[in-house]
Amino acid sequence: MQSFQQTTPFRITVLPGDGIGPEVMAAAVQVLDKVQGRVAGLQLILDEYAAGAGEFQRCGDPLPEQVRLACNHSDAVLLGAMGLPDVRWPDGRELTPQIDLREIFQLFQGIRPVFLYHEADCPLKGCKPGEIDFVIIRESTEGLFSSRLRPLHADADSATDQLLVTRERSQQLFHVAFRLAQTRRSHLTLVDKANVLPSMVFFRRIFDEVAEQYPDVTTRRLYVDAASLLLVRQPQEFDVLVTENMFGDILSDLAAALVGGMGMAPSADIGENTAVFQPCHGTAPDLIGRNIANPIAMILSAAMMLEWLDSDASREAARLIRAAVTSVMQDPSCRTPDMKGHCTTDQITAAIIAAI
Ligand code: ATP
Repeated sequence: MQSFQQTTPFRITVLPGDGIGPEVMAAAVQVLDKVQGRVAGLQLILDEYAAGAGEFQRCGDPLPEQVRLACNHSDAVLLGAMGLPDVRWPDGRELTPQIDLREIFQLFQGIRPVFLYHEADCPLKGCKPGEIDFVIIRESTEGLFSSRLRPLHADADSATDQLLVTRERSQQLFHVAFRLAQTRRSHLTLVDKANVLPSMVFFRRIFDEVAEQYPDVTTRRLYVDAASLLLVRQPQEFDVLVTENMFGDILSDLAAALVGGMGMAPSADIGENTAVFQPCHGTAPDLIGRNIANPIAMILSAAMMLEWLDSDASREAARLIRAAVTSVMQDPSCRTPDMKGHCTTDQITAAIIAAI
């Protein structure tokens, strides 16, 4: 057993949520329990709360006050998935408490790593493990989502959405992107639509200004349509991509498809004071209660949380989880049905725990 000094435990708010959220969260919690047993000095206090569509049905609020307070006062938040298609606000909108959390806590950095563990999981010919290895940074508090709560009148003849880009937020975002690129292969791609939208001309202008402070990072600017094509044709060319909220939303699903699907796509939503770690996927209502949800995106999100907590012990725990996932993924028969396998959620989780 590895031993590290840790004086105070980390307090983690755990929000399993709805749909397959509780199933994949149960897997991640088992993995966290296992690494706590393996890394002396790692202490995690997991405080679980009900939130999401189920909680809305029970008490009328998907994110009750005590959940917000817990998120605010904990070291990090681990979230499964939230929202259900049939549970809606009176005006017909779906509940999206996971997006509300990004706005409440200003979690502007949506960090979405994309990594190919085994060539059998890639729909492209000839892609070797590790050749697809990039990170999408999605701005997560403004962009085309910024007017999402504006009411839509039933008798409206037209509707518009606002794409908000602010100088301050964009500067913060680009500094994050350049610094991340410096820790990787020092290549950063801006994805925008600066040939058409004034907001994106402004976004690119700020990118260019910030780029001058990072002469060691090679940059590239792509329109979102061209970026989509290149991500399919030559995903190996990408290192870090930074983009607007909606473009990031769409491109991260496309990117997940290159490495096995939504069950392989972890994420972190990071702000100045707190961070929420959750798989990119939603509640997958078609899979509820069948023990076939892929838990790997959730488990890798927990590993991202441990890295972000940034103690010697938590970094070591994250390393153990990543090594275990890598080792389990070497066996292409060890897959849930979304990746053309026959394993259950429990079997994949047990294999990862055994590898740890
Ligand atoms: P949202 O709008 O919140 O993204 P959604 O239902 O539109 O939710 P997802 O839940 O992300 O989209 O997933 C779409 C489909 O992908 C699911 O119905 C399911 O079949 C599959 N899927 C998503 N996550 C997983 C997973 N962890 N394991 C297996 N299949 C998954």
